[in-house]
Amino acid sequence: MLVIVSASNSTHPAVQLTGVRKSYDGVAAVDGLDITVERGQVLALLGPNGAGKTTTVEMCEGFVSPESGSVRVLGLDPIAQSAQLRPRIGVMLQGGGAYPGSKAGEMLRLVASYSANPLDPDWLLDCLGLDHAVKTPYRRLSGGQQQRLALACAIVGRPELVFLDEPTAGLDAQARLLVWELIDALRRDGVSVLLTTHLMDEAEQLADELVIIDHGKIVASGTASELTKQGAEGRLRFSAPAGLDLTSLAEVLPTEYSAHEEGPGSYVVVGVIEPGILVIVTSWCARQDVLATELQVDQRRLEDVFLELTGKELRR
Ligand code: ATP
Repeated sequence: MLVIVSASNSTHPAVQLTGVRKSYDGVAAVDGLDITVERGQVLALLGPNGAGKTTTVEMCEGFVSPESGSVRVLGLDPIAQSAQLRPRIGVMLQGGGAYPGSKAGEMLRLVASYSANPLDPDWLLDCLGLDHAVKTPYRRLSGGQQQRLALACAIVGRPELVFLDEPTAGLDAQARLLVWELIDALRRDGVSVLLTTHLMDEAEQLADELVIIDHGKIVASGTASELTKQGAEGRLRFSAPAGLDLTSLAEVLPTEYSAHEEGPGSYVVVGVIEPGILVIVTSWCARQDVLATELQVDQRRLEDVFLELTGKELRR
């Protein structure tokens, strides 16, 4: 296990945004956000292009000042108290801050030197599969290698909280898996993480809490399973002999459920499909002396929920 966290007895949340607003040229990029990242929590911020994710993260990092509302990171103001905060947080900069000619190993050692108790840079490069690139100049690293180096720079100082803006954008499947494992290790070590992503499987895999924003506002939040279940009508499908009389099934189902024969021998029950509903339907089949085959429960995926909430039209 990675031992990253520097023990902190602070009780402040990792991040607390209250009524935060920021606009550019009179248009709100972030429009009254309230978000809390608890200590040790991994929170994923999801949203279509231009939803305000990066602006939100940049306000937490102290790079952008909010127009109104309050931003507190580990209980501190990220702009007014940035000197106190900086050694305690990790920021993943997209190619930012790198001298194109400096070598990967040198860069990480330099960042590590700012920290009182850094991780061993060589070990970290090894963990991230960058051991062969130690002497490679930054500009010669592949996009995926630059991305992993940025992640290494963000965590080498054993931060209490890490901000990751699209940490796996442009990575191949192997590198993505490696970064996922690293983020999971951060969580196990009690590090708080605020990440943005466009990948639903990434959010589902990594995050304890998901916040979907659009036009700078929260449109939904919760765990992945809460979001996929919320108010969702599901479908239970099964095959059986054609022409069954479904009146007696409708009588035993709760009133908000319906049952239809969609095509000859193809039946569907519509409603929130919970375990008890399966029991009702299969017991009813048994009473009819009917063997239901090809039983299938259609579950909403996070992607379906995301598109329902944020629409399907392309953002410009
Ligand atoms: P993406 O998924 O495309 O990265 P995002 O959710 O991170 O998008 P932001 O980058 O926060 O969205 O942008 C939110 C809105 O604010 C967009 O309309 C963007 O054009 C605008 N914006 C962001 N930064 C600036 C800036 N420095 N100047 C002017 N407009 C900006």
